[in-house]
Amino acid sequence: MIVGAGISGIMASYEFKLNYPEVRFITLEKLDVIGGSLPMAGGAMIAMHSRTHQAAGKEAEMEDIISVLEISMGHEADREYVTNIYEHADAWMDRLVDLGVEFNLNNVTPASRANNDRLSAIAAMGNGAGFTSFLNQAIRKDPFDLRMHSQVTELIVEDGQVIGVKVEDAEKTYNIYADAVLLATGGFSNSRAMLEKYIPLYQRSISRSGAGATGDGIVLTERFQPEIVGQANAMGGSLRASPTTAKLSGNFVVAADGKRFANETNANAMIRAIGENNLSAYLLMDGKFENTAALEAGIDSGLVRRFDTLEELAEGMRIDQETLLETVAQYNQAAANGEELEFGLPAASATPLDTAPYYAERIYVMHFGTIPSVKVDHQMRLLDGEGNAVPGLYCSGELTEGNLYDNKYPGAGYGISYAAYSGAYAAGCIMNDRGAASAQ
Ligand SMILES: Cc1cc2nc3c(=O)[nH]c(=O)nc-3n(C[C@H](O)[C@H](O)[C@H](O)COP(=O)(O)OP(=O)(O)OC[C@H]3O[C@@H](n4cnc5c(N)ncnc54)[C@H](O)[C@@H]3O)c2cc1C
Repeated sequence: MIVGAGISGIMASYEFKLNYPEVRFITLEKLDVIGGSLPMAGGAMIAMHSRTHQAAGKEAEMEDIISVLEISMGHEADREYVTNIYEHADAWMDRLVDLGVEFNLNNVTPASRANNDRLSAIAAMGNGAGFTSFLNQAIRKDPFDLRMHSQVTELIVEDGQVIGVKVEDAEKTYNIYADAVLLATGGFSNSRAMLEKYIPLYQRSISRSGAGATGDGIVLTERFQPEIVGQANAMGGSLRASPTTAKLSGNFVVAADGKRFANETNANAMIRAIGENNLSAYLLMDGKFENTAALEAGIDSGLVRRFDTLEELAEGMRIDQETLLETVAQYNQAAANGEELEFGLPAASATPLDTAPYYAERIYVMHFGTIPSVKVDHQMRLLDGEGNAVPGLYCSGELTEGNLYDNKYPGAGYGISYAAYSGAYAAGCIMNDRGAASAQ
């Protein structure tokens, strides 16, 4: 049984179909679409020497994958875990190409600009939406037993072993029994209660994840009291005007009380201040802002508002007028003097407000995935609260993200590639355990 048809469940399905054709498996998806969070994503994958990476002239080594993780986390990675997941990355990325996914050799970015120029993320044509449409076509051409509108509501457990799942579809509820169950149900970006519990800083943030990311894997495994690993952080935290539009550029942000609250060039500090204090945040710009096309597009879509004076802006945006005028005066003065501004904003990065018209854009904290995860062992078996592998139960993808890196999203392509490769890898682990069991 494979639960979830995001990229992780789909890659697990093809691993069974293509490498273990003797195995009968069923893939269940609760929504009426496949892909999970993938259609919304950038659609980029990392690998080392895949055919695509070779064609792009961007080859890397396992050490690069590990080093980006370690620099990002600030401590050692679980090298064996990372190696298990990524050692067959090239073959799995090649498989995606064989299935019909086209990658865009003009859309290649370093996985981490700051600390590695070898490891590269290559996006699918049409980004995540294009990626998903290639997968849809692949499934039509090369199908497997995929049941849509089929939600797993419970695991069936006998003598501590998972032996199947309860399924609910539009007409009925029924049981499916299986030698092994793989949960590839994604993260919990859309569960307000779980955000509050595991990532309080993001409890009021906006999720950009797929509708199915409601933390079902965490609920389904609760009975085993697994350890939740990975610190309280989201994947891809950002400040944006809407889930599909980046915010305009500018370094003057105030809350409704008219005061600045963090260094505008430090996204993490901004997100923390907004999350901890439940602030409404407004990016302010003036007539010197040069990207007039972006401004006009923002005004057309209603995301940006234009005012002739700062007083009108304060009134229109319901920002405390007196304090705003004081904040602007102090900010402009410090910038003119070349002094560092409050919260450590360098004068060179300041964007003073002194030329009408004035613009305001409400900005929100958003995220695209979750790091806290159920703990698995190196063979993707769920570990119960005492650290014992639960027989018959495996997990992959974003549901297990915190096993790969535990505090912050390391860089482009890690999310999708980890979900994809951990799904394929988990299928192999299931087969190894079956082989071991039948040899006994
Ligand atoms: C806006 C956005 C941008 C992103 N950008 C990037 C990027 O640039 N690079 C990168 O590497 N990653 C990126 N990511 C992250 C990456 O896309 C995800 O981490 C990854 O796709 C997760 O895959 P998954 O298969 O593990 O989970 P999901 O995609 O969440 O799939 C899980 C599936 O399981 C189904 N399901 C859940 N519960 C049940 C149940 N009880 N029964 C049956 N089915 C169930 C869900 O409906 C869903 O289809 C981005 C994500 C988003 C949203």
